[in-house]
Amino acid sequence: MFKIGVNGFGTIGKRVASAVQKQKDMKLLGISDISPSWESRYAAMNVPVYMSLKEYGKDEVEQFEKVKKTFIDAGIEPAGAVTDLIDEANLIVDATPEGIGRKNKEEIYSRKKSLHAIFQGGEKASIAKVTFNANINYKDAVGEQFIRVPSCNTTGMLRYLNSIQEVSDVKDVIINLIRRGADPAEPNSGPINDYVPTEIPSHHADDVIVADKRLEGKLITYGVKVPVTLMHMHNVVVTGDFPSRDKILDAFDDNLRIIVLGGENGAPTAAEIIDANDRRDLYQIIILEKTVHLHGNILLFSAYVHQEADVIPENIDAIRASLGFEDSYDSIIKTNESLGLKETKKRLEELFPVS
Ligand code: NAD
Repeated sequence: MFKIGVNGFGTIGKRVASAVQKQKDMKLLGISDISPSWESRYAAMNVPVYMSLKEYGKDEVEQFEKVKKTFIDAGIEPAGAVTDLIDEANLIVDATPEGIGRKNKEEIYSRKKSLHAIFQGGEKASIAKVTFNANINYKDAVGEQFIRVPSCNTTGMLRYLNSIQEVSDVKDVIINLIRRGADPAEPNSGPINDYVPTEIPSHHADDVIVADKRLEGKLITYGVKVPVTLMHMHNVVVTGDFPSRDKILDAFDDNLRIIVLGGENGAPTAAEIIDANDRRDLYQIIILEKTVHLHGNILLFSAYVHQEADVIPENIDAIRASLGFEDSYDSIIKTNESLGLKETKKRLEELFPVS
């Protein structure tokens, strides 16, 4: 049984924690954060809650005492310091904000030589040897002490571009990312009435290429942030040699982490899909069948990426790979089954059938 701790209990941390609890080969030992919140109170109902610090190394005992008081005042009896969680765990999933994961790696994870850790996409790629995607480089990640799961957009691009490359000879790819302005539980983020463009090219392509070298020199990304919290949308143009539109659709369909959706009234919108999924997390990337268009050697399509959820299955597979579980196929199946991906696909396909 793999013993797992989650450090940083926000948008990604809480989702990884509950996904870990659904795995038969993993035990969630606890979660840790720098401050209490309603989420940590919620977590404390069924898992021990530990305390993290903003800075380590100086007056730690006194600092932990101060943080402990804030947890107790908020109605949570902490199980200990994050260093206690680290002592017990085989692996920590670090889901702290951008840049904090690197500090944690240097300041606390390094204290236990045998500790493995998974980092998120806000950290620079150099934090780990492998920037992970279960379909592309699981084998490279087996036994790696540190693994990085890239961002939601990168994970989405890696998934559908891998499916295309399995059946086509790809020449160039241009992706326009229509990015959500904030996660739903971020009332202070935005924009709420504007477009915020990225520079061209945006950094997103570099991150994809770190994990998939086949795309080196071929991929350009750019984007715009818009006042939507539901999902990101990608508008994709690929040039190359393609077998046929049907074969591309079949290649998407072969991966349970991608769902192709149609529908009588054109492409379903992001809000319709979230609603149809009982307003729950959507682990799969959605390809809109009505947008898949093959024009000679140019392929166009649109995809939705549920920013809060698509990286969760990859985090679970990355844990198994890091802790030495060698069979990528078996890990992917275990993860997909535990998170109900087949049921989600069946339900959405029934509601939005392809033509
Ligand atoms: P978040 O702000 O929702 O949550 C971060 C949590 O970490 C908060 O609860 C915060 O209190 C806690 N924290 C802050 N400093 C800490 C420390 N020193 N030790 C322990 N806990 C600390 O952030 P998020 O959106 O979950 O992002 C986490 C990581 O996941 C980032 O690298 C981000 O880029 C990546 N990511 C985010 C999304 C998304 O849609 N939100 C998607 C994919 C990847």
